[in-house]
Amino acid sequence: MDTQVKSSLAILGGEKAVKSDFGDTFVWPIVTKEDEDAVLDVLRRRAMSGTDVTKKFEAEFAKWQGTKYALGFNNGTAAIHAAMFGCGVGVGDEIICPSVTYWASALQCFSLGATVVFADIDPKTLCIDPNDIEHRITSRTKAIVVVHYLSHPADMDPIMEIARRHNVKVIEDVSHAHGALYKGRKVGALGDVAAMSCMTGKSFAIGEAGVLATDNLEIYERAIALGHYERFGEQIQTESLKPFIGMPMGGYKYRMHQVSSAMGLVQLKHYDSRCQEIRRGMDYFWKLLEGVPGLKPHRIEYPESNMGGCYAPRGHYCPEELGGLSVTRFAEAVRAEGFERCYPACNSALHLHPLFNTCDVYGHGKPTRIANSSRDLRQPEGSLPVSEGIGARTYTIPWFTHYHPEVIEECANAYRKAAENFKELLPGDAGNPPHLGGWHFFSHG
Ligand SMILES: *Cc1c(COP(=O)(O)O)cnc(C)c1O
Repeated sequence: MDTQVKSSLAILGGEKAVKSDFGDTFVWPIVTKEDEDAVLDVLRRRAMSGTDVTKKFEAEFAKWQGTKYALGFNNGTAAIHAAMFGCGVGVGDEIICPSVTYWASALQCFSLGATVVFADIDPKTLCIDPNDIEHRITSRTKAIVVVHYLSHPADMDPIMEIARRHNVKVIEDVSHAHGALYKGRKVGALGDVAAMSCMTGKSFAIGEAGVLATDNLEIYERAIALGHYERFGEQIQTESLKPFIGMPMGGYKYRMHQVSSAMGLVQLKHYDSRCQEIRRGMDYFWKLLEGVPGLKPHRIEYPESNMGGCYAPRGHYCPEELGGLSVTRFAEAVRAEGFERCYPACNSALHLHPLFNTCDVYGHGKPTRIANSSRDLRQPEGSLPVSEGIGARTYTIPWFTHYHPEVIEECANAYRKAAENFKELLPGDAGNPPHLGGWHFFSHG
């Protein structure tokens, strides 16, 4: 670079790496006449609040997921709430959840009278660190919530071993990783129960919707009992639930909208092949960046595994290989190259949010996190170092939902240029702001 008079970096006046029109590269989900017809049929039959299409969707989903039962919900938050109730999470109980995830992996426990203990994440997988779970288990721990974060399957084998040894249930939050494989097995069929979002923007995107999947009849029926009054009837087999049929035990109404289940039936048929196309693009992107300093793929390394639809893809950032260049300045340079969706960080660490520290949600006269527990288990700054520092070591990469090699090449070149010319970026680097990342992220139309 020192032979050049002018910088090649667009942010310093050079030519942009990205020149092509993206076309449909980032369009998702794929909606065809088949989806439209299915949805219109529901509308024309005025069947939006029925359950006939939803029950068909659930049967197909269970087959695809490889579980005995699947239950539709109006969103993922409700499905995870029901999974917690299904596992018996109640007053005074604790769940263990990674700190770096979307709030709906954990927060519903408050309304069950329970509380959450956060575990740190593994710096490579970005999922819950299996080595940071066991010492957090107490006699009150009812469930471990595992999030297959940013499509990366969590390391389920050691997690299940720990959970079995302590008689604790495992809830998989599959909202980022529908269809991903862990050592030859589909995530969502590995724990005691799985729950997931299917909102538009996720990789399995069918509107506002959620699904709970399990092999366990009692968990399934408790999930029905919480928020599906119209199904909470004579067919229920769990003795402890029978006296209360007819009313939702939680006082919630969580039914799935049939416009979503109609779309879900269509999307499910095409989902695996569409995911294959996504993975082909993501693999190509990372192949083009092999050997570039500072940039490492966030990718699954277990055998016979994959990252499903590669939702919310990120890369690892190693500033020590780039003279300490901040990820904030790096992302700014990538955006200037013509890929405008490159931002630093991922979800912020939940344990630092005031809601988990000072907020008295239900009028107990003290913070809910403490009120719902027999002890003060708040976790101060410094207690989960990987979670707290991960924002400075991650950045978004393009989600290539359609395979167009020339677009992928140009985008990869934007990242390559910014990294390889890091020395030119150092003088203008103001560093990272004190807080990186956000409490939620998703793309929506
Ligand atoms: C989106 C999301 C949810 C919540 O799902 P909704 O459908 O938005 O209610 C839960 N967990 C994770 C990890 C998510 O990304």
